[in-house]
Order: sequence, then structure tokens, then C-alpha cells
Amino acid sequence: MRAATTTIWTLIPTQLPTLTRRCPRCDAPRTFACTGRVRVNANGKRLDAWLLLACVGCERSLRLTVHERVEVRSLPPGHLDALHRNDAATVARLAQQLVGEEASSSPAAVAIRGAVPEPPFVAVIRCESGAQLRLDRVLAQALGLSRAEVRRRWRQGWIAAVPEDGRALARRARDGQRIWVGG
Ligand SMILES: [Zn+2]
Repeated sequence: MRAATTTIWTLIPTQLPTLTRRCPRCDAPRTFACTGRVRVNANGKRLDAWLLLACVGCERSLRLTVHERVEVRSLPPGHLDALHRNDAATVARLAQQLVGEEASSSPAAVAIRGAVPEPPFVAVIRCESGAQLRLDRVLAQALGLSRAEVRRRWRQGWIAAVPEDGRALARRARDGQRIWVGG
């Protein structure tokens, strides 16, 4: 492998996951979507926080617990402020943590930010806010190729994981993963 420039590809969720629950108002199973908001209830030194979802049929809200009676002082600096501001990256991360595991939607849509230099280059993958995408989809999206073409180049050694891992293509891209793209 020749010496190669390095670029960083940041995966960013563009869509928050949804959840299916029985809605008491609709009296039926409904999709609950993240509203992008967090409710914080501070009570002296302790606070509760919830991620707010809403039924897509009737907008009845559903709260998922983020913090329960937690000591304000124990929170990392900036976190409480981020909750108060409904900081988009924080909300996306919480949504992945709280909803991601029982999400009813297909994996949340992901955008990729980063330059595509002249090959050869090494791309370092960063997964922001719990963004998840199979590596072959990351490469197809970032390089503007079909997944079949990505697989072909992978088999021929024109695209490879560093260190080499032949099976990485069908797995989720990992934070910090390095991909070599040859010319
Ligand atoms: Zn409803």
C-alpha cells in the first residue's frame, strides 16, 4: 500500500428512531416519533429528565426516562445545558440509546460528512450520536458507487479495511474504523 492521505467521514443520523406502543387515546398500536425535545424537572439538587415522543396519530406524548432523581452535580459539564436547549446531537444520542434497541423503524437514516480525496486515501469513520450503517452502505454512499461495485472492488483489493478484515463489509461501520481506498 502506498502512503495515502487521510480523510474523516462522519456518520450523522438524519432521522430519529420511532417506537411502536399501544396508544391509550387512539386505543390501538401506534408509531411514536421523537419530538426532538427533552423535558427537565429540577427539584433542588436532583433532577428528572425525559425524552419526549408523540403518537403520530393523535400527538399524545410518551416520555422515556433519561434521568431519574439524579444529582445535578453528578452530571457531566454542559450536559444539563444541552438538555435544556434540546441540543440536537444530545437528543439524537439519547434517542439511539433509549429507542434504538426496540426501534420499529429500519435503522435511522444516516448522512455522511467528509471529503473524498483523490485515491489512494484512508478514510477514518466517525459515528456521531450513535449513527449506525453497514460498511458497504457507507462506502457506496460516500464514494457514489453501487453496493455491487463496492463489493467488487473489495474482492479485488481496491478497497480494504485497515487492518485487513475481509468480513467488515457486511457489518456495521465502527467508530474509529479505517478504510483504505486505492486508485
Ligand atoms: Zn394516539
